[in-house]
Amino acid sequence: MKSEMIRLLRESSEYLSGQELCDRFQVSRTAVWKVINQLKEEGYVIEAKQNRGYRLLESPDTMEAYELMSRMGTEWAGRKVFYKKETGSTNIDCKQLAVQGEPHGTLAVAERQVSGRGRRGRGWESPAGESIYMSLLCRPDFSPKKAPMLTLVMGISVAEAVERYTGLAAKIKWPNDIVVNGRKICGILTEMEMGLETKEIQYLVIGVGINVNNGFTGMQETGDWKQARRAAFPEELQGKATSLFLEMEKRETKILRAPLVQYVMEAFEKNYGLFLRSLDLSLLRESYNGYLVNRNAVVKVLDPQGEYTGIAREIDDAGDLLVETEDGTLKKVYSGEVSVRGIYGYAL
Ligand code: ATP
Repeated sequence: MKSEMIRLLRESSEYLSGQELCDRFQVSRTAVWKVINQLKEEGYVIEAKQNRGYRLLESPDTMEAYELMSRMGTEWAGRKVFYKKETGSTNIDCKQLAVQGEPHGTLAVAERQVSGRGRRGRGWESPAGESIYMSLLCRPDFSPKKAPMLTLVMGISVAEAVERYTGLAAKIKWPNDIVVNGRKICGILTEMEMGLETKEIQYLVIGVGINVNNGFTGMQETGDWKQARRAAFPEELQGKATSLFLEMEKRETKILRAPLVQYVMEAFEKNYGLFLRSLDLSLLRESYNGYLVNRNAVVKVLDPQGEYTGIAREIDDAGDLLVETEDGTLKKVYSGEVSVRGIYGYAL
């Protein structure tokens, strides 16, 4: 009822009378009043006017399930949300939800991760309350070989959502990082569980971390963007990581996270549909290539079997990166083991 109440209030341009809310939810006036009061305590600014009713003026920056579900207009992506204030990693939570039988499209979110992870066991810096940490459960019936492509499908979806929400130019550093102005704002980690005997996908979990308000507190305290940037991330991420707040450079404006989650879910549902039509990236390839941060630029390929440089050209239908080496041949780079770097730094 809580999330439906928020949705109704948000979608209505007029005041909603107590009676309308009672009729809608088949509950008493007192019950409606209690929920309204609860919402106010949680930071929703709701105006109550005698003889007219209630009007939602402002929503708090929260990742609570009722707030996210109140925004979701998708068919399946993010329709069911499980929230934790603190967790080890949302990918682990999402796997548990899968084992419990939760449906395709279930989303696990948290305000803070104590052991957020990237690829190959690397860490994901996950401070409390500033960013988005979420993992989406997928139950596809295609071959496990196709699974890595979903990282790219999510990559385009995050890039589209960030552009739609902030107007910033988002780019993709193949295969799984989203960057803004050359720095990383998002990492994606896809994990798969396969049936021991069937060798089919049991479920897939796509973890997404997006840096949203990192630097906000530092900025309010110092009033200096450079200092805020320094305070936003630990030493080893200086120069590599950034947040939407730091790139927007609007000092007073804390960015609401929930609408961005909604936009990512909407974009992913659409792009997943396109992926299913061909079971490869042929319908998404042009869009992905348009987002490539180092398209036609020199890159360093950090292949465990030997580092080399070349010019990043594009991805193919399977999502592999085609890099032109010095002798003019096109080399396919598979995403599993490899990182790509710019020639001067992380992205370019
Ligand atoms: P790379 O980022 O080195 O190209 P990768 O794409 O494999 O490699 P991921 O697995 O996506 O990296 O993410 C892990 C890495 O991201 C960490 O090693 C760290 O350098 C960086 N990182 C960790 N936390 C954050 C964060 N909050 N924002 C941006 N970057 C981060």
